[in-house]
Parts: sequence; C-alpha cells; structure tokens
Amino acid sequence: ATPTAILVGTGRGAQLGILIGGPEALERSRGIDTIVLDKTGTVTSGVMRVRGTALVSPSSGDEADADVGVLARALRLAATVEARSEHPVARAIVDAATTDGGLGEVSDFRNEPGFGVRGTVDGVDVLVGRPDDEFEATGEAARLLAEDVTAVLVTLDGTPTAIVTVADEVKPTSAEAVRRLRRLGLDPILLTGDRAAAAERVAREVGIDDVVSGVLPEGKVAEIERLQRRGRRVAMVGDGVNDAPALAVADLGIAMGTGTDAAMEASDLTLVRGDLGAAADAIQLSRATYRTIV
Ligand code: ADP
Ligand code: MG
Repeated sequence: ATPTAILVGTGRGAQLGILIGGPEALERSRGIDTIVLDKTGTVTSGVMRVRGTALVSPSSGDEADADVGVLARALRLAATVEARSEHPVARAIVDAATTDGGLGEVSDFRNEPGFGVRGTVDGVDVLVGRPDDEFEATGEAARLLAEDVTAVLVTLDGTPTAIVTVADEVKPTSAEAVRRLRRLGLDPILLTGDRAAAAERVAREVGIDDVVSGVLPEGKVAEIERLQRRGRRVAMVGDGVNDAPALAVADLGIAMGTGTDAAMEASDLTLVRGDLGAAADAIQLSRATYRTIV
C-alpha cells in the first residue's frame, strides 16, 4: 500500500475507534487466519459481582451460629488483600466487603497474574486465588464450585477456608462480533486463566467451540506459539496485565482501550471502546487498505 493509503486507513481507523500503532500494524493485520480472545474484560464486561460465598468446612449443630462470623472474617481478610489488586475478581470482592468501615493493612503483598493474590493481614497469611481443579468441598461450597462461573478459594494460614463465586456478563456485542470474525475467515479461540466451567459457558454464549482454560500468562504465550508453529497467523485480543506477554508474541496484538496500559503497550492496535466488533472492523480495514492499487 502507498503511504497515502496507509494514512487514509489510519484516519478511517480513528473514526471506527481503532488506534493504529504504526504503518506495520495494518500490514500485520492482513494475513491473519486465527483470532485468540481473552475472556474476562474482552469477551465479557470485566465488571464482576460476588454471587455466592460459603465456608469450606462448616460446623455442624450448635457451633453453626459461629460460622457466620468465621465467613465474614475470611471475606474481610480476602478483601483487605484484594484492595491492592486491580483485577475484576479483586474489585468484586472489595465491593462486597466494604459496606461497613475500612479495611486493614497488608504486608508482604504479592500479585500472581492468572492465579490470584497473597498477603499478610494482622499476622494471618491470606491467599486468594483460583482453586486447583482437584480441590474438593462439600455442602454449600461444593454447590458453588459446581456452578459455571468464576470461583476463588480463600486460604488462611494454609487452611482452605472459604469459596467465593463471582461472575460478569458477556458484552452485548460479543456474539455478533464472533460471527463477523468467522465470516472474515478467522478461527476464534477462547483463551483464559479462568477455570474450564466458566470458560465453556462464555464460549457457548458467543458461539466459540475452541477453548483453552486455566492457563497462566506464560501459558497464553505458549498457546499462541503452538498455533504459530502449526502455520497459523494469529491475532490475540486482550485487556489484562496477564495478556500482555501473549499480545506481544502474537502476529497482531489487539488491546481493549478499556483495559490496562500494559496490554495497550504490548499491542499493535487498540480498540478504544473495548468493543470486539472493532476487531472485525480492523481486519476489514487492513484488507481494504492493502487492496488499494499501489
Ligand atoms: P482471564 O484470562 O479470564 O482474563 P486471569 O488470567 O486474569 O483471567 O485470571 C485467571 C483466574 O485467576 C481468575 O479466573 C481467578 O480465578 C484467578 N485470579 C486472578 N486474579 C485474581 C485475584 N486478584 N484474586 C483472586 N483470583 C484471581
Ligand atoms: Mg482479561
């Protein structure tokens, strides 16, 4: 394409809410045949709410009354640590716990992208993160874990103590965007750090058959590289700190403008409104730009 065509394409992109990193970004959009989509904040709104909470080991009989306090304390400790995180799960847990008074102080805070957070509060070691697939519970906690939503485990001083389920909604534009991407000849794949049940529900809602779940940020990179080794030209769409390494490795990185700076810095294109439909617009735009006679 001529410099003029690229300039026109870039201007048209701005009108469509697509920020184009440089001339090579449109060029890189051309041969894409596979589009990998992050789940939370990309296909879904990323605004999560707590749906349920339960103790892992509730007391029986007379002591059951005390459980209310035990659960409340666990949630409060979890929220105190999560207040240091920007993750959608963290926001949901903080929102649910901060109706009465402030939260405590955290030391030794650690953020583990794709897994959760850890910190010390009032001398208690608090871990909040994705439970292992093998994690088993009974009663209400088991019922919560069986739902097809995101679930996190609160572990206090090494003891698995409470399950919290959180969920957000698929964005109203996501299903139509996936249909358009398919019509453009792209294979959609959902790639998420969340557990399989939550991932598969979202995939079903937007019409994606190919799901890779439960992966850490480096697992996202490995999946992109695996596809590339099989000869695919891969676009990746994401919004989180956890997506940044995969966005950088993809043939075309596309960030949600509603997401983190880390995702935008690692990407070739930014979709200003965070609407997946603009990813289809971007592919169409680059094809139109490069069809222009030189
Ligand atoms: P996605 O790939 O869908 O954007 P992430 O990789 O950010 O998801 O997170 C994967 C999973 O790790 C979440 O579904 C959640 O179970 C857990 N997780 C991540 N961050 C946190 C956090 N701050 N607190 C609790 N759990 C978290
Ligand atoms: Mg995300």
